[in-house]
Amino acid sequence: MTTYMNFIDGVFVRGGGESLPNHFPTTGEVIGEISSAGRADVDAAVGAARAALKGPWGRMSIPERVALLRKLADGINARFEEFLAAEIRDTGKPRSIASHIDIPRGAANFNVFADQILTSSTETFEMATPDGAGALNYAVRVPRGVIAVVCPWNLPLLLMTWKVAPALACGNTVVVKPSEETPATATLLGEVMNAVGIPRGVYNVVHGTGPGAAGEFLTTHPDVDGITFTGETRTGEAIMRAAAGGVRPVSLELGGKNAGIIFDDADLETTLEGIGRACFANTGQVCLGTERLYVQRGIFDRLAEGLAAKAKGYRLGDPFDPATTMGPLVSAEHRAKVLSYYDKARAGGATILAGGGIPHMQGYEGGYWIEPTVWTGLSEDAPVVSEEIFGPCTHLTPFDSEEEAVMLANDSPYGLATSIWTNGLSRAHRVARQIEVGIAWVNCWFLRDLRTPFGGSKASGIGREGGVHSLEFYTELRNVCIKL
Ligand code: NAD
Repeated sequence: MTTYMNFIDGVFVRGGGESLPNHFPTTGEVIGEISSAGRADVDAAVGAARAALKGPWGRMSIPERVALLRKLADGINARFEEFLAAEIRDTGKPRSIASHIDIPRGAANFNVFADQILTSSTETFEMATPDGAGALNYAVRVPRGVIAVVCPWNLPLLLMTWKVAPALACGNTVVVKPSEETPATATLLGEVMNAVGIPRGVYNVVHGTGPGAAGEFLTTHPDVDGITFTGETRTGEAIMRAAAGGVRPVSLELGGKNAGIIFDDADLETTLEGIGRACFANTGQVCLGTERLYVQRGIFDRLAEGLAAKAKGYRLGDPFDPATTMGPLVSAEHRAKVLSYYDKARAGGATILAGGGIPHMQGYEGGYWIEPTVWTGLSEDAPVVSEEIFGPCTHLTPFDSEEEAVMLANDSPYGLATSIWTNGLSRAHRVARQIEVGIAWVNCWFLRDLRTPFGGSKASGIGREGGVHSLEFYTELRNVCIKL
C-alpha cells in the first residue's frame, strides 16, 4: 500500500484531514491511502509558496528558470516507467494510451513553456509629448504570485503540468490540488522537483476532496493570487464564486457535450478512424470527446454500422498489457453515473447499435468496466443527447442540410470543441466559423499544437491557455512609461 503525502515546502508531510482510500479501477481493490490536507496544511502550503516568491526563485533570471524547466522534463522522462505505472494504477488506463499521451505530454509541457517564455516579447510604444522630448512605453511581464492549480482525474499528469509548467515559466509559485481519484503523479513530481533543484516552496501539493476540504480551503484562501481549474462546469461555478472574494483571476477549462459533424463527402475510412477515437479514447473520459454525432442522411447507416464495429473492436483488459486498448472508468461513482445514462437511453427507446451495459470481465469482476456504446433514435432534448456523460458512448442523429447541422451542433449550453468531417474546402471553413466552440477540428480530432489557444466558450470555460495565451493568464502586464 502506498501512502500519498502532501508536499509542502519541499517536504512530504501527513495532512491533518481525513485519510481517503485509493482504488485500482481495474479491480476495485484499495491499493493506497491518501493523506488529506486540513486547513492548516493548506495555509502552510500557501505560506510556503508566498515565501518562495521572495527567495532564490523570485530572483532567478528567465534563462535560469528555463534551465530548471528543461531538467523537469528530463526528470520525468528519466523516471518514465514509474510515472507510467503510477498513472495506470490511479486511472486503469491502458499502457498503450498512457505511454503515448499522458506521460510524454506531461514531460513535454515543461519544454514547450520553456521555449515560450524564451521567445515571447512585449509591446513598446513611443509617444509625443508637448515639450517635444517624447516618452517611451514598454510592457513587462511580472508573475502573478501564488497560483492555485485544481485538477481533474482524466489526464492527471498531462493536465496538471499544462498549468504548472507555464506558471513556473512565468516565475510564479504553485499549490496543486490533484483529484482525490488520482493523487499519484502529482506526488511523484514533488520528488522530481527536489531532485532537479527547484527551490522549496515553489511547487506544493495538497490532497483531498473539494467542498469542505482541500479544494475549497485552497480556492477560498485570501493569499492565493490566481486560480486555474480544469473540471466540471458546476465545480467551475463554485470556484468562480470563491475567486470573487479578493477579485482573483480565474482560468476555467470545463465540461463539454461536443458535436461531431460528418458530411457525405467525407472520406469514410479516415472519418471512422478519427471519430472512433473521439468517441471512445480513454474510455470516453476526455473533455474533448464526441458524445453527439450529426451525420448527413445519405451515409448515416454506413457510418453508424462502421462506428458500432469500432466500439465492438476495443480490447478491454489488463491495462499493463500493451495489447489492451480500453480500460475501465475511473471510479465506482463515475460508473454509476455513466450507467444511469445507459439506463435512460434504454428507457427512452434508443436503438442500441453496440454495447449498452457492463461487460463480463473474468478475473476483474470488482473493476469499473463499461461497454463502449453507440445509440441512435433519441430526440435532441433526451438527457443522453444533451448532458455530459463522460463515458465511452455516443448518439447519432441524421441531418439533411449544412444549416441544419450547424443549428443542431450549436443547440447546447456547452461550447468546447467540434470535429467536422468533409472534403469540401469552402464548407470546412464556413462551418468551422459557425460552430460556437473554442476548438474546431477539420478531418482530425485531438491534434494539438501546444502554441495554439485552448479553451471553451459558453459553459465550457473562461479564458484560453496554450502558447502565449498561457502567459497572459500567468503574468500581469505592467506598463512602464518613461518621459525622455
Ligand atoms: P470535478 O469538477 O468533479 O473535480 C475537479 C477538481 O476539483 C478535483 O480536484 C476536485 O476535488 C475539485 N473540486 C471539486 N469541488 C470543488 C470545490 N467546491 N472547490 C474546489 N475544488 C473542488 O471534475 P472531475 O470529475 O475530476 O473531471 C471531469 C470533468 O472535467 C468533466 O466535466 C470534463 O469535461 C472536465 N474536463 C475539462 C477539460 C477542459 O480542458 N475543458 C479537460 C479535462 C476534463
